[in-house]
Amino acid sequence: MIDRFCLFHCAYARVPASVIIEDGGWSLIRLPFLGGIAEHSELGPILLDAPYGHEGPSNLGNLMGAVMQKAGLVFEERWSVIPRLEALGLRPADVAHILMTHLHYDHTGAMKTLAHARFHMSRREWEAATEGPEWQASVRGYLRSDYSSLQNCVEMHDDIPHLADSERGLDLFEDGSVEMFFLPGHTPGHCGYRIHLTDGTTVFFVGDAAYTVEQIQGEQGFGLLPKTVASSSGGVEVTRRALQRHFDEHPDDIPICSHELSLGARCIDEGPIIYGD
Ligand SMILES: [Zn+2]
Repeated sequence: MIDRFCLFHCAYARVPASVIIEDGGWSLIRLPFLGGIAEHSELGPILLDAPYGHEGPSNLGNLMGAVMQKAGLVFEERWSVIPRLEALGLRPADVAHILMTHLHYDHTGAMKTLAHARFHMSRREWEAATEGPEWQASVRGYLRSDYSSLQNCVEMHDDIPHLADSERGLDLFEDGSVEMFFLPGHTPGHCGYRIHLTDGTTVFFVGDAAYTVEQIQGEQGFGLLPKTVASSSGGVEVTRRALQRHFDEHPDDIPICSHELSLGARCIDEGPIIYGD
């Protein structure tokens, strides 16, 4: 079972609010890049996405990494995945499972440094990230050099219940600790993970299905970035409505978006957030 869940940021970018929030204006906000660690008593640490390794945004190449940092991306090596694990007293070598929401470059930078683990994802996401010419994939946000050598470490899942159709997700470890839901739209194979902690807390890591809780609730529209990168705007809306209904029906579930602004601000200002302690 899972005793604790730690949410942390690997980087953040200063961007105009309208990039993330519809009609958000030009004032700068801090867009976080969040990852999570679930501590499972039998399976060891389970990672939620692998945002950045020690090289940070240079997974895009040294030039692009430097351009991004000039453009407002703030990255420190101590924020990357391996130091985050070590700060919790966990050994990176003990990470056996990594739960990928999707394979956009801001979620995959640390995959190569954890090549001993199993990477869970939907088969559809792996296909979307590996089909067609490389330049087309990069236009869609996929950076193949982060994962192309890892095919043998990938656990591709089929028949993952869509949250719009099912109350229950795929019981990933057959112990009720993690439910995997299909939440497509942002990418064709995007998934989310509902994590049940032993103290009764439930966190639902929804990746990039929305960027703020207000967007899930329909109180805030999607800004330029999520609108531009979405593989299907209709799919985004079906998933958003399913999430809205889910959180209405499960008000105690804690929603976590990979770029959630308020949780990100807490992480940046105060350090990692621990649930279940
Ligand atoms: Zn993202």
